[in-house]
Amino acid sequence: MAERKRCIRCGKRAVRPRRAKGRTTPYRTMPCLPIPEALALPECGYCRNLSIPDDETTLRALHESYVASLRERVELAIVTLHDVRSLRKIERLLGVSQGYLSKLRAGTSNPSPELTLLLGLLASSPKLMLRRADAFWALPADGCLNLAMRSAL
Ligand SMILES: [Zn+2]
Repeated sequence: MAERKRCIRCGKRAVRPRRAKGRTTPYRTMPCLPIPEALALPECGYCRNLSIPDDETTLRALHESYVASLRERVELAIVTLHDVRSLRKIERLLGVSQGYLSKLRAGTSNPSPELTLLLGLLASSPKLMLRRADAFWALPADGCLNLAMRSAL
């Protein structure tokens, strides 16, 4: 059996690689990214302190989990928005190329965190937020924020 390492939190010699369900870690834009269950990470058996090493396997697994979460969020947002408006009209509103939202919905393309957040915010209240977005683009630049907020109420 491999020697257990000393825990940086409690000082006990109880740290060994462990796999577990339900673990999360802050990662890029997400405060609670799910850690893949199959990923073995150094954890203290005494105080449960979890370390996230920066080796290639760990970084790749966390990145894959992050991208999967972006894809899932964007697919849900697009399905919700599509109940209210055609994808082509939403693509025009966002200034993205024709067919891009279909690709994201089908999971054949990876969304950026920026677009994921924008679609998520629009989908949080689709009719209201799409009206605000329409007004934002329709109004002159010097009054677009205040007027778009007012016109959508
Ligand atoms: Zn510990």
